[in-house]
Amino acid sequence: MIIVTTLDATPDDVDRIRERVESLGLRTHLSRGETHTVIGCIGDEEKLDHLPLRSLPGVAHVHRVMKPFKLAAREFAAGPSRVSMGDVEVGGQDLVVIAGPCSVEGEEMILESADAVRAAGGKGLRGGAFKPRTSPYSFNGLGVRGLELLAQARERSGLPVVTEVMDTRQVQDVAGHADVLQVGARNMQNFALLTEVGRVHRPVLLKRGMSSTIRDLLLAAEYVMKQGNMDVILCERGIRTFETATRNTFDLAAIPVLKAETHLPVIADPSHAGGRRELVAPLSFAAIAAGADGLMVEIHPEPSQALSDGDQSLDFDEFREFMVGLQPFAAAAGRRLSVGDRTPARAAVTG
Ligand code: PEP
Ligand code: MN
Repeated sequence: MIIVTTLDATPDDVDRIRERVESLGLRTHLSRGETHTVIGCIGDEEKLDHLPLRSLPGVAHVHRVMKPFKLAAREFAAGPSRVSMGDVEVGGQDLVVIAGPCSVEGEEMILESADAVRAAGGKGLRGGAFKPRTSPYSFNGLGVRGLELLAQARERSGLPVVTEVMDTRQVQDVAGHADVLQVGARNMQNFALLTEVGRVHRPVLLKRGMSSTIRDLLLAAEYVMKQGNMDVILCERGIRTFETATRNTFDLAAIPVLKAETHLPVIADPSHAGGRRELVAPLSFAAIAAGADGLMVEIHPEPSQALSDGDQSLDFDEFREFMVGLQPFAAAAGRRLSVGDRTPARAAVTG
């Protein structure tokens, strides 16, 4: 159930409405827009059926959300949500670029990568410490050591860190080191994991499962939000189709569809979508034009030596050029993007 307030509702009116709803054992969530406030009611809606909500001062409309997902539904908030990643906001006017290696492979490479991301104007550092790999014989990440290196890279660069959590048993460790918990495509419907990340106070970057519909993705977000964690960022990263020319099929239409269906921020991952470095820029341009709030891109100091996803990783020079190339697209989409100064991306790592 959603309660929309009148234009002249006072803070006292809003408090009284919330108190009435909460007195019946439901929770409320407040979303203040420029003209009105939306009060989302979470819990057993049937209890509200007999409450004369419309007669309370300050109430303009009351309606049920008929969609299968409620908290994620566009109507649940007064406007687009912004999710804070450290002091960076995703979902506002800034086009937020998160970049870094597929996997954290060692100290020097992650520190260098963080420098390269920051120098080029990236706003977040990615890097996998726990890696979901198709083969159990592939490099599966440095684990907790990788998390420590990411924390060190954040310390040095000031960039918030995004890293994947694969299992409920890793949630506390990952939340203890990272600014954003990534739930990967393979785990998008791991409901125990979604519930667990919903219980911690860290934003969640939820990647679309490779054979998941948009509805599945929104219901997965709903699992996290139902636990009280409303800070979810959705990520389109391509889905599996019969096409074999690209690693996945980038579902461009998912971006405007999601933006219409949900208030949550939506970003795109062109690296996993295309699987090839030459596709990263064109898919990113398209994503920006389609309304993406940000991008997540894989880079590596020496892609040919990468322990995972080298083919789709940009080197540092390519990344800097890529960022410059984004600018006209960001401007055309009405997005702010500050591309970094021309500081050499491969500054020496001193410790
Ligand atoms: C990743 O971001 O490195 C990753 C494994 O992505 P996905 O879950 O989208 O495959
Ligand atoms: Mn990867």
